[in-house]
Amino acid sequence: MDLNRRVYRLSPSQYSAETIAVTFAKTSRSPEPFDVIAAELNDERSAQFSEKWIVGYGHSSVAEHAVLHLALENVSRLAIETIEANRLASYTEKSTRYQEWDPKAYVTPPEILGSPCEGEYKELMGTLFGIYAEALQALRPWGEANTPRRENESEKAWANRARVKSVDVARFLLPSAAMANVGLTINARALEYAIKKMLSSELEEVRQIGAEVKAVAQQELPTLVKYADPIAFLPQLRTKARVFADRIDTIYGAPWCDLKDADESGEDRILAAVLYRFGDDSYQVCLDQVLNMPNEEKQALVDVMFAEMTDFDIPIRELEYADLSFSLIMDQGAYFEFKRHRMMTQTVQDLTARLGYAIPKAITEAGFEMRYREAMRAAAVVYEKLASWNPQVASYVVPNAFNRRVLCRANLRELFHFIKLRCARNAHFSIQRVGRGMLEAVRPHFPLLSQKIQVKGDISAQALTEEYFTETAAKPIL
Ligand SMILES: Cc1cc2nc3c(=O)[nH]c(=O)nc-3n(C[C@H](O)[C@H](O)[C@H](O)COP(=O)(O)OP(=O)(O)OC[C@H]3O[C@@H](n4cnc5c(N)ncnc54)[C@H](O)[C@@H]3O)c2cc1C
Repeated sequence: MDLNRRVYRLSPSQYSAETIAVTFAKTSRSPEPFDVIAAELNDERSAQFSEKWIVGYGHSSVAEHAVLHLALENVSRLAIETIEANRLASYTEKSTRYQEWDPKAYVTPPEILGSPCEGEYKELMGTLFGIYAEALQALRPWGEANTPRRENESEKAWANRARVKSVDVARFLLPSAAMANVGLTINARALEYAIKKMLSSELEEVRQIGAEVKAVAQQELPTLVKYADPIAFLPQLRTKARVFADRIDTIYGAPWCDLKDADESGEDRILAAVLYRFGDDSYQVCLDQVLNMPNEEKQALVDVMFAEMTDFDIPIRELEYADLSFSLIMDQGAYFEFKRHRMMTQTVQDLTARLGYAIPKAITEAGFEMRYREAMRAAAVVYEKLASWNPQVASYVVPNAFNRRVLCRANLRELFHFIKLRCARNAHFSIQRVGRGMLEAVRPHFPLLSQKIQVKGDISAQALTEEYFTETAAKPIL
């Protein structure tokens, strides 16, 4: 037996993803080195093993060693919401911040194709994409006037920065039927659940994508996603829970950034966890110690936690011992970025045209507000028609400008990350506003720790709103 240390790769160009997963699984019982185990396997033997141990005996974590890279193209942004609804996966998608959308690049949902609504749906898409293209033109002089040339910057680089500025604003007009591409890296265990969720969607497009993903994945993972079927309890749950939810009358006027369940002792519990980690007492003893500390001593401990950290360091895990919940209203464009924060627990309501829409100040300054309002109104009218028949399909026509309610729960460590990333001045102004609003809500409850969140500049959410928006109010428009 070779007892020398070895570190090496099992290359996906040599072994299938399923064979790699089975190789790792077999180390549990086999004394052989990994490369010897792998060499003894073939697709058939791997499949037999997977069927017995992973599927049969429920040793599902083994499937996490089989990783796939899936490319999905020309799917709607609405479908992307389900595709990206998996915490343990990685995504990169076509950006509405940098790319201009082709006027034909929208999905016509299978439910609409051939239905009496098809003509009206396509007419609305023509209107929205047409006004989007007009907005890009109208915003160009605004973008140029608001993009000061940097020292030694070439004409081309400056013009591109000015263009991107207009694209960032025009994106408010894009409906969620707009097509996008997304690259997905995911392990077989997470993929099985992702496929189940797609197959259980209320949208036919998403169910079709789920079936296609399953078929493609099975080329590499014949066994591990074989049993990915629709989730049987979901349809009943949806129908019955909606009966309860429908009993509530909609009330407008809720704050757009409402901190719920703030953990009043959160700061003390985090500090107690730090003492626990570096000491040898019980957690209760550490907590009592913190509760008896004068504020200066707590401040000193907080300073120690962050003293040597650079911009690139991740704060220690003990920040996860405090949670905060937020009830938020943000425009769909902001939500599309918000949903990418996988460490949070997020619950989002259906995308509707019933909660008002944001008007970026740039639209007003470019003299485009009337036209923009026409687009939003046209979308809201078609939305209501479709919603009376199928509310989920109706979401396809809703542009990024419309507001959406999102409930989220995050621990303080994730909030540090989210706020730092999304309050940066190069982040889109919609998500910057969300980040600033959350930061302001966190501060009173975590007075010592929140000082350590690395945010550049000190602009308030209100000031951002005034700087970038003519309108953000969440109110009905029809
Ligand atoms: C300047 C900029 C440009 C962007 N452009 C695009 C774009 O063009 N297209 C696009 O699709 N997205 C884009 N994004 C979004 C970006 O790719 C992230 O998806 C998004 O910011 C979510 O943040 P996150 O992945 O750091 O963290 P979260 O999901 O919030 O996770 C928090 C932290 O947990 C850790 N973590 C979570 N999951 C994993 C994992 N699977 N593996 C390892 N560590 C993990 C990381 O430390 C991470 O920082 C952009 C973001 C920025 C800031």
